[in-house]
Amino acid sequence: MKLILLGPPGAGKGTQAKRLQDRYGIVQISTGDMLRAEVAAGSDIGREAKAVMEAGKLVSDDILIRMLAARVDRSDCSKGFILDGFPRTVPQATALDSMLASRRMELDAVVELKVDDAALTDRIAGRYTCATCGAGYHDDFQKPRTAAVCDACAGTTFTRRADDNRETVGARLAAYHQQTAPILPHYAAQGRLQAVDGMADIDDVTKALTALLDGLGKR
Ligand code: AMP
Repeated sequence: MKLILLGPPGAGKGTQAKRLQDRYGIVQISTGDMLRAEVAAGSDIGREAKAVMEAGKLVSDDILIRMLAARVDRSDCSKGFILDGFPRTVPQATALDSMLASRRMELDAVVELKVDDAALTDRIAGRYTCATCGAGYHDDFQKPRTAAVCDACAGTTFTRRADDNRETVGARLAAYHQQTAPILPHYAAQGRLQAVDGMADIDDVTKALTALLDGLGKR
């Protein structure tokens, strides 16, 4: 299964992608995570991307397209993948079309997680992840069962993203509306675009997504 999860920052793409990868045996490809790994490694790409990411702007299409092409060719993608954070511009969407066509691959679905802008700042500003296993938490909406201990791996070290602050969220939302939202009509024209209510509880969003994806297999 090849799937794109679309939606603004904080819509829940990463959280849901992690759940879907376990259920369907496909891999989450988060271009944000890939870029953060480049920044942490101090690579050429990381050095170029760091300031752009901290300002809440988009890293160049050229870098992202090359990065994604190399990633989908890795063997762990053989059963499929969930794109989380890519494409984010019309040129990225058209490059993805050609990339998939040249590999004789086809997207099964493009799902937009719809969330009101007003909810996003609080969602983003309160989120953090387990440094050991990457499980996601939130100060108000998703606390670990035991304070400061990861439910999944019992880790006790947590990290917050450098760009998850109230100042940067505005720029990230503006980038979404100006540069990413225009790809919705691109996929609607292909007859692939579907929408799920991302304002619902995390478990209910997962249920809606799996109902939609399970339904695809029966078409
Ligand atoms: P994310 O983890 O998806 O919220 O991405 C974090 C940051 O990485 C974004 O705010 C961008 O600066 C950068 N980024 C991630 N994916 C892309 C992409 N497809 N195109 C351009 N920049 C990206």
